[in-house]
Amino acid sequence: MTIEELKNKLKYSFSPYSHVQVACCAIEENGKEYWGVNTENAAFPSGLCAERSALFGSVAYGARVGNFKEIHIISNLSKLLYPCGACAQVISQFLKLDGDVYLYSFDLKQQKHYKMKDILPFAVASKDIVD
Ligand SMILES: [Zn+2]
Repeated sequence: MTIEELKNKLKYSFSPYSHVQVACCAIEENGKEYWGVNTENAAFPSGLCAERSALFGSVAYGARVGNFKEIHIISNLSKLLYPCGACAQVISQFLKLDGDVYLYSFDLKQQKHYKMKDILPFAVASKDIVD
């Protein structure tokens, strides 16, 4: 994945309501890349963020939940757009514990790198839902 490829994916976003385009590339430990864009819907709650689009879609292509090493997120905004709470939770289960989260503003003037645990320190894990 290159930043230009990531930026280029923004054009596939379906965001006629918010006009906020988001693109994401999630990369498995083996280097395999999975892409997603936000896809809005006239029934608003039915839309889906770029991050969950990429990650949920990856499962049908053989990706293993918990086997991702990094995720890259860009938007068409001039500031960084952090993953929403729902996506942060999902990312936490797809990424390895020390997984990397990279954020980019559209003009690339702002770029941040986080560890997943910094994005959502109290994520719910599989071990948390058994007594
Ligand atoms: Zn989200």
